Amino acid sequence: MINRILVLTIVSLMTSLNLSGKNILLTGGFVYHEDGKFLTDTIVLCQDGKITYVGPSEDLPPVNHVQKINLNGGYVLPGFIDSHIHLQGYGRSLDILNLVGTKSLSEIAILVSDAINQKEKGEWIIGRGWDQNDWSETSFPTKDILDRIAPDYPIYLTRIDGHAIWVNSSAMNLTNITLKTPDPEGGKIIRNKYGEPTGVFVDNAIALISDHIPSPSKNQKRKQILHAVKKLNKIGITSIHDAGTDSETLDLLKTLADSGDLTLRVYAMLQDDPDQYLPYFETGPLIGYGNNHLTIRSIKAYIDGALGSRGAVLKEPYADDPENRGLLLSHPEHLDSLVSAAFSHGFQVNIHAIGDRGNQICLDIFEKYLEKYPGDHRPRIEHAQILDPLDIPRFASFGVIPSMQPTHCTSDMPWLESRLGKDRLSGAYAWKSLIDSGSIIPGGSDAPVENPNPLWGIYAAITRMDHTGHPEGGWFPKECVSRIEAIRMFTEWGAYAAFEETIKGKIKEGYLADLVVLDKNILEIPTEEILSTKVLITIVNGRVIHKK
Ligand SMILES: [Zn+2]
Repeated sequence: MINRILVLTIVSLMTSLNLSGKNILLTGGFVYHEDGKFLTDTIVLCQDGKITYVGPSEDLPPVNHVQKINLNGGYVLPGFIDSHIHLQGYGRSLDILNLVGTKSLSEIAILVSDAINQKEKGEWIIGRGWDQNDWSETSFPTKDILDRIAPDYPIYLTRIDGHAIWVNSSAMNLTNITLKTPDPEGGKIIRNKYGEPTGVFVDNAIALISDHIPSPSKNQKRKQILHAVKKLNKIGITSIHDAGTDSETLDLLKTLADSGDLTLRVYAMLQDDPDQYLPYFETGPLIGYGNNHLTIRSIKAYIDGALGSRGAVLKEPYADDPENRGLLLSHPEHLDSLVSAAFSHGFQVNIHAIGDRGNQICLDIFEKYLEKYPGDHRPRIEHAQILDPLDIPRFASFGVIPSMQPTHCTSDMPWLESRLGKDRLSGAYAWKSLIDSGSIIPGGSDAPVENPNPLWGIYAAITRMDHTGHPEGGWFPKECVSRIEAIRMFTEWGAYAAFEETIKGKIKEGYLADLVVLDKNILEIPTEEILSTKVLITIVNGRVIHKK
């Protein structure tokens, strides 16, 4: 008891001094235990970026310089891991001005002005989502209003349907659009009575401008990455697996890790490009760079495309396109040599495969090289969306990890039956069958394709319903996972898929102090309330980096 009083005295003393020391003590909350429950009367001590104590306050050893944080009944979980995301692409998507739902020109003018304040002179302002049918004046807008707000910034705003753009004079000057520019075939430049372009370009005329928009500079990329990191921290994400990181982004991540600005741990997958991975084969994997903020030990490859564009490779033709079985993006022999080289150099291979045949080819390749190079390779299939039921147990039996994104299921489910027919749907997003056969499933979002909120992913995995609760009872509900499994998808299973299960994904002594505090008990609340659950605090490396 004396001990406890002493500790509490020290704690309150330190709090009153408001020391922003490296040690924090989380009290007054409920602490997630890996067995799938929240512990009461449990405190968590984080020192120098690691969890050093989890247990009752009475048994806390004496500590100095600790900042006490009262969680006021919040629920502490391991920081969320998004196992498949495109960090820079997500950052770029945040840079695009969202004009969906705007009701007037003046509303858009305000948004554009705000965007300019965050840009340097001459940088393109890109936006999307305007619809003149929602305005009181329903004719096409003109460059004039944009010219008044931003004479020195090229502006490019896409209409809601993607079939028209609205630009200003700066954008037209930079792309040499004049009165004399002819309308291209299949496109139209809207003009005034003197024949001058007014700033709206339709269909094939869009490319006259869009072809000239430069890809982001290194500095813009840096800003986009930092913006993405901040947004991800806010929704409780403390680690990501970046599904195909280009060399420039890797350089930026290293610099940000060095300077301490990377408040997210990144497990980067190299692209399937020898120029990128051969130098790493020589040096070996880079593990835990910058105080465990960057790891490079895997390569991302592709076998096929996606279902939406009928590019996923299927055993039988598409139900709504009987001549088409999809398209192989890589020759199986290419993947053969990649997997062989990667395994022999200690690198993981993560292959994008969506269709049942695409998945089968990958399983066959992995089976062959897992036999040839015994060891802990943990190959992954990214997406694993449509599986031949006979292939499901092969994942666990070879140790191939299906890395899946629950929100893809809930986005795709309205049109999947027409695309695939009913029979193949029993192997679609077959999470529960995979888990029951012994697999783990690291969960991801594939942002910017889907929203990165891990609570949306958890909700989708548990319910297989959209946010309005449809279809009632869930789409093929036998594949719904339990709440504990859904939490594991975004915590410990993500850690395992990156060889990090001994440092991440659990609230345990010795683990990295990456934590998230929620306002509700997601093990017990009605499922729809998971969507409105708030992230109160996000902690990375023992530092509070987001607080509501
Ligand atoms: Zn992806």
